[in-house]
Amino acid sequence: MAAAETDSEVPCARCSDFLNFSAKDTAAKWLEVDNLHKEVYQHLACFVPKIYCLGPNLNPQNEDLLAQLLLQGPLEWYLCGEEPTVGLAKLEQSNQPSQLCGHVFKVGEPTYSCRDCAADPTCVLCMQCFLGSVHKEHRYRMTTSGGGGFCDCGDTEAWKKGPYCQKHEPNIGDSSQKDPLANLSEQMIDRTRNVFSIILKYAVDMLTWEKENELPEGLEPPARGDTYYCMLFNDEVHTYEQVIYTLQKAVNCTQKEAVSFATTVDRDGRKSVRFGDFQFCEQAKSVIVRNTSRQTKPLRVQVMHSSVVAHQCFALKALNWLGQIIRSSDALRRILCLVGLHQGPNGENSLVDTLMLCDSKMWKGARNVYHQLFMSSLLMDPKYKKLFAIQFAKNYRRLQTDFMEDDHERVVSVTSLSVQLFTAPTVARMLITEENLMTTIIQTFVDHLRHRDLQGRFQFERYTAQQAFKFRRVQSLIGDLKYVLISRPTEWSNELRDKFLEGFEAFLELLKCMQGMDPVVRQVGQHIEMEPEWEAAFTLQMKLTHIISMMQEWCASDERVLIEAYKKCLSALTHCHSGFTDGEQPITLTMCGHSVDTIRYCVSQEKVSIHLPVSRLLAGLHALLSKTEVAYRFPELLPLSELSPPMLIEHPLRCLVLCAQVHAGMWRRNGFSLVNQIYYYHNVKCRVEMFDKDLVMLQAGASMMDPNHFLMIVLSRFELFHIFSSADCRKRYGRENINKDVVQQNNTLIEEMLHLVIMVVGERYIAGVGQVESYDEIKREIIHQLCIRPMAHSELVKALPENENKETGMERVIDHVALFKKPGVTGRGLYKLRPECAKMFNLYFNHYSRADQSKAEEAQRKIKRQNGEDSVLPPPVPPHFCPLFGSLVNILQCDVLLGILGAVLQWAMEPSGGHWSESMLQRVLHLLGMGLVEEQQHLTGSTEDGISFNFTLKISRPGEAPGNTPSILALLETLQNAPHLEVHKDMIRWILKTVANIKTTRECTASASPADSSGHSQEETVRDKDKAERKRKAEMARLRREKIMAQMSEMQRHFINENKDLFQQSLEELDATTSTSLEHSSPSTCDSTLVCVGPRRWRAGASDRRQVVTCILCQEEQEIRADGKAMVLAAFVQRSTVMSKNRKRPPYNPDKYDPLFMHPDLSFGTHTGSCGHIMHSHCWQRYFEAVQAKEQRRQQRLRVHTSYDVENGEFLCPLCECLSNTVIPLLPLTKTTCSTEQPDQRQWINIISQQIKALHAARKKTNAEGVDDADSAEDCHPPDGFRLDHTPKNPYSGTIKEMLTTFGTATYKVGLKVHPNEQDARVPIMCWGSCAYTIQSIERLLVDEEKPLFGSLPCRQNDCLSSLTRFGSACWTASSQAVVHGHFIRLLAALVPDSQVENTPCILDIDMFHMLVSLVLSYPALHCLDSSGMSEDAAQLHLLHLVTIAHIVQILLTSIPEEVRMEQESGGAEREEEESVCLLYNTLRSHLSSGLHEVTSGWHLWHCVKTGILPYLRAAALFFHYLNGAPVPPELHGVGEWEALCGYLCLPSNPLQLYYNNLELLEPLLQGWCSHPGVLQALQSSTALIRFPRESNHLIELPEDYSALINQASSFTCPKSGGDKSRAPTLCLVCGAMLCSQSYCCQTELEGDDVGACTAHTFSCGAGVGIFLRVRESQVLFLAGKTKGCFYAPPYLDDYGETDQGLRRGNPLHLCQERYRKIQKLWRQHSITEEIGHAQEANQTLVGIDWQHL
Ligand SMILES: [Zn+2]
Ligand SMILES: [Zn+2]
Ligand SMILES: [Zn+2]
Ligand SMILES: [Zn+2]
Ligand SMILES: [Zn+2]
Ligand SMILES: [Zn+2]
Ligand SMILES: [Zn+2]
Repeated sequence: MAAAETDSEVPCARCSDFLNFSAKDTAAKWLEVDNLHKEVYQHLACFVPKIYCLGPNLNPQNEDLLAQLLLQGPLEWYLCGEEPTVGLAKLEQSNQPSQLCGHVFKVGEPTYSCRDCAADPTCVLCMQCFLGSVHKEHRYRMTTSGGGGFCDCGDTEAWKKGPYCQKHEPNIGDSSQKDPLANLSEQMIDRTRNVFSIILKYAVDMLTWEKENELPEGLEPPARGDTYYCMLFNDEVHTYEQVIYTLQKAVNCTQKEAVSFATTVDRDGRKSVRFGDFQFCEQAKSVIVRNTSRQTKPLRVQVMHSSVVAHQCFALKALNWLGQIIRSSDALRRILCLVGLHQGPNGENSLVDTLMLCDSKMWKGARNVYHQLFMSSLLMDPKYKKLFAIQFAKNYRRLQTDFMEDDHERVVSVTSLSVQLFTAPTVARMLITEENLMTTIIQTFVDHLRHRDLQGRFQFERYTAQQAFKFRRVQSLIGDLKYVLISRPTEWSNELRDKFLEGFEAFLELLKCMQGMDPVVRQVGQHIEMEPEWEAAFTLQMKLTHIISMMQEWCASDERVLIEAYKKCLSALTHCHSGFTDGEQPITLTMCGHSVDTIRYCVSQEKVSIHLPVSRLLAGLHALLSKTEVAYRFPELLPLSELSPPMLIEHPLRCLVLCAQVHAGMWRRNGFSLVNQIYYYHNVKCRVEMFDKDLVMLQAGASMMDPNHFLMIVLSRFELFHIFSSADCRKRYGRENINKDVVQQNNTLIEEMLHLVIMVVGERYIAGVGQVESYDEIKREIIHQLCIRPMAHSELVKALPENENKETGMERVIDHVALFKKPGVTGRGLYKLRPECAKMFNLYFNHYSRADQSKAEEAQRKIKRQNGEDSVLPPPVPPHFCPLFGSLVNILQCDVLLGILGAVLQWAMEPSGGHWSESMLQRVLHLLGMGLVEEQQHLTGSTEDGISFNFTLKISRPGEAPGNTPSILALLETLQNAPHLEVHKDMIRWILKTVANIKTTRECTASASPADSSGHSQEETVRDKDKAERKRKAEMARLRREKIMAQMSEMQRHFINENKDLFQQSLEELDATTSTSLEHSSPSTCDSTLVCVGPRRWRAGASDRRQVVTCILCQEEQEIRADGKAMVLAAFVQRSTVMSKNRKRPPYNPDKYDPLFMHPDLSFGTHTGSCGHIMHSHCWQRYFEAVQAKEQRRQQRLRVHTSYDVENGEFLCPLCECLSNTVIPLLPLTKTTCSTEQPDQRQWINIISQQIKALHAARKKTNAEGVDDADSAEDCHPPDGFRLDHTPKNPYSGTIKEMLTTFGTATYKVGLKVHPNEQDARVPIMCWGSCAYTIQSIERLLVDEEKPLFGSLPCRQNDCLSSLTRFGSACWTASSQAVVHGHFIRLLAALVPDSQVENTPCILDIDMFHMLVSLVLSYPALHCLDSSGMSEDAAQLHLLHLVTIAHIVQILLTSIPEEVRMEQESGGAEREEEESVCLLYNTLRSHLSSGLHEVTSGWHLWHCVKTGILPYLRAAALFFHYLNGAPVPPELHGVGEWEALCGYLCLPSNPLQLYYNNLELLEPLLQGWCSHPGVLQALQSSTALIRFPRESNHLIELPEDYSALINQASSFTCPKSGGDKSRAPTLCLVCGAMLCSQSYCCQTELEGDDVGACTAHTFSCGAGVGIFLRVRESQVLFLAGKTKGCFYAPPYLDDYGETDQGLRRGNPLHLCQERYRKIQKLWRQHSITEEIGHAQEANQTLVGIDWQHL
């Protein structure tokens, strides 16, 4: 940290001033003075304004340099008393490195938490520590940090195990608790203390300074000018757009500057937007204030004097400096803590206190800096951390209040430090006992919730937006409370007990404010006018859920606390309901010989509330009394005698009745808010402390009551008492039939009531209620979820309640109850229930919704049937009750329940006339089953119970009703045969059988084996199996039918055609007719060898040429004929860079670009794809017009986007909805005859050259004479039979001609991104180019997929290629002949010199396959003028040979030097080839003496040629195959066989022979090629030399572990806004570039639109198509153009076979190669755009996303 050397950039005026300055001398002077404080302030007052804030543009580098020299320098000298570098190094040596890692997290950095060992989820490790820790082998969770917070490595309190990583492992040798100051000299300590206290004081003074125009005492500048800043401050009210707009107006800046201002304001909290005299700044201020004050409070702006700003800048710098200097010395850190927490002599606030208390007044940047300093000092020193925590707790109330008033986010508030302090268990415990923290937090919270009703309960009814905002902020207090409670004490001191109970009491006060809040009253008559606010109350409940649970757990850990808490809670409840009978009339109910006193109360008429937290807390504590056995051990300490069971159950019961009535439809007029409340009441997020506890409370109450009394009260609250209490209740249908709706309603209520009874008796899976552990509880939850269907891990997690540590406890259990099935390339891994667990299935599981229940029932019955079992679902055997709840079983055999059951069974005797329901009966049977199961259990258990619980006896007795009513058993026996009860027969039979079994058991007295419930004979099983199998098959057939129908209707939806009904045929038929082409028909007999090109090629007979296809729109058949109706194939043309070897090509000018020669780097091409669906051209046109019209109508109506852009010619294939933007016409094979005599290559070239000469001459003449061309070109002697004046007859019908133009224009338009112009000379070039490019890309794809060249292409690609090539050979007819001639001449001139053509490219700059295709496809334009009998086939062959030679030369020129591999030299088999290739290579060397390296190995060269030329030959084979329709020899169906390929292409198997056979012709050509200056140039530069074979492109390599990516992204900074963290770092999977996506900073303009970084990148990297990985979201992004995009599942899976889009779950993610390969395949086959189209069609919300801004 030596003073830096002066910089030449230092402003000159001050040079001398600064140069003479000596830090050492200044420090020495300071050592002398008495009042150091004054001296230092003077120094600062003098220098700070000279360094900082000298103009509108700050120059941080310069400023920092000067500050180091003039300000920090002397401080460091003074502090060390010697050269600072030396002094600080000494300090560092004696430093005991902290065992805490303390690494402060950047935004987006990965953090790791161990689910096994972390004390709580806030304990995290940085990546380095994690990788060096034991936890990487444990179950861990990975998240991305939101910034702030630090690594807890080394904090022994944070980890149950392995608190240190390898790096932070303490040295066991030295005692770690040594005082760090012991090593420091007295003087050093004094000096440090002096410097630190002055500088810290200075920083605090300046940062908390509020005056705009003055400075604190001692800092007044020697001279002050009229220089001011207009400072804009951040707020959370105004949007980015508002700020940008305002700034442009107020300070006259560009949009770009305004964006940069706004970004800085958002980041740092303030930014000066103008510099100048006071007037000038005031003016800007008033404009900003005026512009932003309309609706909201205005933006905060201050006009500040430059010296004030300067000192504030240095104050921040000084804090950073302090942080810096204490980093390397624990001693200095200790002194800083000491200074910071030092209180004034009269108890004045310490500097730390001052900062905290002014927190909400500071701007964001200042807060961040001092928070950082706190973290690196106070929080890193174990001793001072505690002292700081105490100060923090003392200030807690005030800090929270300030935070409430402030509008900044919590991360920039000092209150967010609570997580660092409160989560340390010892600190938390200390703060509870010493500072009464629990009570403070709770009371602060309650104080801030002021809206109360008359009874003092919270009231959120009509709270304003402002209040809602505060309510959100106040919730952070609950978070603090959670931190404090998160680790439960293992030891209790008396102080802790006292303070906890005090806190508990405060908490009860809070709950009392909630008990009964938001009450509802049933709306009758008309619908409610306004939905009442309900969310706030539920938010509160949800936030408190874990706190309530934790309170109970704390209580459970100490008997005395539990007893006291129980008492307090009971008295709170009594207090809440002190007047619970007030005003409510007492009544007496009598039924079945029992009577009970209760009150008259109707849920349907009076107020009722869902919020009963006090009752529920008591229920929880009651269960704990039972679980911990405190209830049995200390009954005398408990107020059990004070309990009034009717009072306990009253409110929970009302709440449950409310739910039942809502289900019964009685509360419809109360609107959705009530429905939502009921939903959340049962929801997994709330139910633990709501629904579950209400049930426990009912169980607790009922266990203390006579079961008959309990049931009567239940009946009364359900408003059903009158139905069951009347003497003739068994004849309901006769009596009560007035109103059908009422009967219906009552039926539902009876069902609900029976369900409640089932739950009260049956639910025993809460520890304390039943004899279970939490393990059993989770196990049962999971089993019941999996009974619905197999589920993914994340689905299960969602269905289970999480504890405060976000754990469900599922992992402990899952393998015992489920089997895991891995996912395939799509979908996710699933857990399936183990078959043996199905016996635990309970149809009336209390957490099932009605929908879940019926799904589970269906699934379970199905499984049973499939296994050939009886499909009955009897109640499972429940665990035993705990003694405190044991009496609940008596409900089953009590008179009232039996009366109810009997009544329902009696009703069921008659077919339902609405007086009973199936589910009612099902529940009754279930209850009977439960009674029997219970009795069986008692019988097999102890003998005494067997006597007391005799359910079979009770149900055998006749009914109580007057007369001789039959017993329940008798009723069942009758019902067994009732025809209308078919569905229930299984169950009735099961009950009767079980009764019989029990009777036998009882008769035998001796303990017999438990009854066999499935007493099937072998025969029965077999019959059932047969039946099941038949049923299954019928079901399958039905499903198949339905699927087809669904597909059909899907198609019809998009089919705008009058002939819809023709579609009603099966899909198979359709598929068969879409393509009846003859590509792979058996080889015809025209020629014995199969050759696809040249005069000897295979020729199609008339029958082979005939091709009939069916139009998918009108269903008519049509033969493909040149003169017939045009048939077209839906097609999609797109630009592509998939094969690009050079993504850095500068953009070209689309209007001038000449695409004739494709460069071998294939930097971009035009790809054509098709779904293979064929239509009449007129049918398609009609369809497209309809789509257009529909789109227009739609746009007029509402501004929705579609997945396709009609204006750009896009549409969806009417059959398969594949995105298309044009159509390719289908053409027949051309008819050719084999003529015998054909010119050899030399002759042919001569003829062609002459013909070209004639064309040149004719053109010259035309040009010279203009229109006047009376006589044909006499003087140039055209060769025989070449008729220049001949106008060939166009063979195509009008519609085909039209379609030729359509497709040509589309290719031209898309490929060049220009406006359509069918006259443009480049139209045919683009068509040939697209043909060549598409074939090449398919050839690559086949290699990459390791598929044979022929026979493996799907039909659609086959059809596409065939029509594309045939179109290519015909497209010249749609262009001007002269233009096509011109193209041919220029193409040929690149290989055969033509003196008339200039600027031909050198052969290294030409892709030879494109060359071949263009030559072959343009030749017909020349050929048609020739009547000499020369065949086109011969020309094709000659062109192939010529281009092949050129390609061989190209390969040899670019071949890489051989490696030393002489052993391969032996060769032998290919001796001849090796020699010939050597010869040729040496010829080339002689032409290019300096350019080519020497190669002696023929083997190597031959290898180069053979591998280099293979892709070209394969592509050529595909091309001629589709062009000429020649069948493929069987050898080629296999993996590309060299000989077969050469044979098929009519090439010698040693292609070099082409050269030697025609030396005379080719030698001069060769010489010509080599002498092109471009060749030498290219060879020498060698940088961009393309070598052959070109390797296939692949997507970038991704790391196996996803966190490596997160880490990479977290260190990525936005390239535009100087070192800022990017909010959405996004990785291009094509080229590996990291981009700053979805952010203002990196928007650029593209073709007139503002686009985000990704969209901009796609245009340079992917020709408009992009594949990205959004790293923070773990999501793949597909983009196409500016408007299309979709998200795609990432190739990363967790151990459960699931992706984690959004990184919400945080399970470790690993690369799934197959899924990544699948994405790569989509890219390679150009299906990204199609994929987006399908995704957008499936999910309309995707269409609305602003993709271009990503
Ligand atoms: Zn760390
Ligand atoms: Zn560590
Ligand atoms: Zn661990
Ligand atoms: Zn048609
Ligand atoms: Zn289609
Ligand atoms: Zn890229
Ligand atoms: Zn950016």
